Amino acid sequence: MQIDKLFGIADAMKIVLNDDESEASLKDLESDHDILASSDTANQDGGRKRHQQARPGCSQRQLLSNYTQSCEEKGIRAVGWKYFNGAFHRLNLSVFIPKKDQCDVCVGFKHGNISQTVFELHTAKKSAAQEMKADDKMKAEDISVWTMELESVLMCPKTKSSAMYYSTNLVVYNMTYFNLKTKEGYCYVFDETNGDLSGQMFGYLHYNHFSRYLDANPDIAKIVIWSDGCGYQNKCATIANSLLQLVVEKKVTIEQKFLTPGHTQMECDSMHSLIKQRTKCDIFTHREYVLAMEMAREIPSAYKVTEVQFSDAKNLSGY
Ligand SMILES: [Zn+2]
Repeated sequence: MQIDKLFGIADAMKIVLNDDESEASLKDLESDHDILASSDTANQDGGRKRHQQARPGCSQRQLLSNYTQSCEEKGIRAVGWKYFNGAFHRLNLSVFIPKKDQCDVCVGFKHGNISQTVFELHTAKKSAAQEMKADDKMKAEDISVWTMELESVLMCPKTKSSAMYYSTNLVVYNMTYFNLKTKEGYCYVFDETNGDLSGQMFGYLHYNHFSRYLDANPDIAKIVIWSDGCGYQNKCATIANSLLQLVVEKKVTIEQKFLTPGHTQMECDSMHSLIKQRTKCDIFTHREYVLAMEMAREIPSAYKVTEVQFSDAKNLSGY
């Protein structure tokens, strides 16, 4: 579909040429493509960007060179960069940069390895999960709805200096929790000397976070937690037991819900994105990450950042 659109531009560019490269014909070309633009917008992240996707992994310059080559083969004169670029933006196109973790089912369907029925079931499941998450936000006052996710690994020090390239870096982790109703964000930061990526560590973090939250908000009777289905972080016996302990101690109901694999866009991603923007500069110490997280957002409130020490983490394995 995307490739068709790309070559649609090439075809359209030929129309422009045949019509004497005028601005008016460029406008015709844009109106022809309006139907396409509305049919397949890149709204995977909640429809914020209404852009069509061009061929994955291609730059705009490469598209121009493909188009020029195609025109040469057909024996017609291609438009230059100025016209191409203008039409590209007016048609609301953008070059699609593939995410690292794309959905296996969606990619499989795109390459013809997965049937239409399986794909439709998958799409329905994905939409149902996202709709259910949106419904949860609207629920009664005494229900607290959360999303939680670990940010991608942070390196310390982080600098573009080549001398640092081969040096061993300290790995820093940031577990994030986002309250869908109050829009509060919480970060729990620890480096590899203070904790690891085990069910025990995450069990402790979940227990500690929700325990503190329930102490500060005694009116809450139920917690709904949305997350991806990552085993050691969210979906294992250790996590279930740590949440069960919380249920017994605080006399609340905790419901864990999981998004469809490959479509786990959630509100925590906005936290990660703001933190990433804030940490674009050189970072030399673990503490600088903490300060950057605290300053990453101002409205409606700054993220509450907690540094986790190994001495805080509880041993949940019973030994
Ligand atoms: Zn998918």
